[in-house]
Amino acid sequence: MKITKIETLRTQEFFNVIWVRIHTDSGVVGLGETFYGAGAVEAHIHETLAIRLLGQNPLHIEALHKEMLNLPMAQSSTGAEYRAASAIDIALWDLFGKVCNQPVHQMLGGLCHDKIRVYNTCAGYNYVRSKNIKPVSNWQINKGQEGPYEDLDGFMNRADELALDLLEQGITAMKIWPFDPPAIENKGLFIDARQMKKSLEPFEKIRKAVGDKMDIMVEFHSLWNLPAAKEIARAIEPYAPRWYEDPIRMNSPQALAEYARSTPVWVCASETLGSRYPYKDMLERDAVHVVMVDLCWSGGLTEGRKIAALAETWHRPFAPHDCIGPVGFAAAVHCSFSQPNTLIQESVRAFYKGWYNELVTAVPRIENGYVFPMEGPGLGVELRDEVFEREDLTIRVSTPESL
Ligand SMILES: [Mg+2]
Repeated sequence: MKITKIETLRTQEFFNVIWVRIHTDSGVVGLGETFYGAGAVEAHIHETLAIRLLGQNPLHIEALHKEMLNLPMAQSSTGAEYRAASAIDIALWDLFGKVCNQPVHQMLGGLCHDKIRVYNTCAGYNYVRSKNIKPVSNWQINKGQEGPYEDLDGFMNRADELALDLLEQGITAMKIWPFDPPAIENKGLFIDARQMKKSLEPFEKIRKAVGDKMDIMVEFHSLWNLPAAKEIARAIEPYAPRWYEDPIRMNSPQALAEYARSTPVWVCASETLGSRYPYKDMLERDAVHVVMVDLCWSGGLTEGRKIAALAETWHRPFAPHDCIGPVGFAAAVHCSFSQPNTLIQESVRAFYKGWYNELVTAVPRIENGYVFPMEGPGLGVELRDEVFEREDLTIRVSTPESL
């Protein structure tokens, strides 16, 4: 079997999402995805990776992974080189599953769980849908698509009602980020008493409305310096949050270790890390309790399962990221099911009940607060026919002839 064509697809509307389709001489096609800086990813795939991949056996997944990431400029990161390789790697696993007529979770070792608990990341329909992704300005509350799950507006203004609504759907964990506005206002340097009080309001409302029936994950988007992050951590502790995610930039295991020592709350890190090496540095210093990975950024399923194994080696739980696109979500769910130490799967109901359905043929089944294994060969998702007919679609193709 040989790779005969590499195709990338992007739309203007979902500006940061890019899909890659790996075509083969047997007719089987693999689908992958990544998110952010789609133009840079597209260029890297066609200008640098295509020549290395065309004509190769797509089932030599480990070797191709090495081939893509052994470039001098592809140092451990979530940079364009890693995002491009991640999308292709996911497409190769999809292809592998299709060739063997098995779901990707089976190809990764088989089911470790019948169902996995999900938490709802309380984003709204238009979150991260802008070209210029910047904290707070990317919230886009009530701009564009509308529906009942404008959950970002929900946690900022009526967190009590939101918590009750989630519980009604059986969802017992929610992630919120009410500290982002003061972080942007003060450049992450400090928080004043008024801002602290305002940012704590959602926690107060949730605990008042639902007691301890709801786990609360707190996302900080790496916006704070270390002393401010520690001060905020102490202030939220009385509300018994489940974890603190990315309080500072994830470039200093020493600083994160200091943070982790300062609070009894679990530290979750980090979708912003690429490859297993920075995770090793964090784990060695006891800086992280919950290992979060975005498969579309950190090196695909090939790297993601190694990161999960690394976490298990340190007796830490694994929690795959989702807040980007529908193929990445499906890949995360397959990975979650195949790893023994999966704690919980991230999900965004405004996405999986909203725009994901415009783009792909299937989304993972989520019922009563749990996600169930995907069915069918490969990832079990394809781009919908409508995607190929969109006027805002750009397709770029590499073949042996075009090199
Ligand atoms: Mg996150």
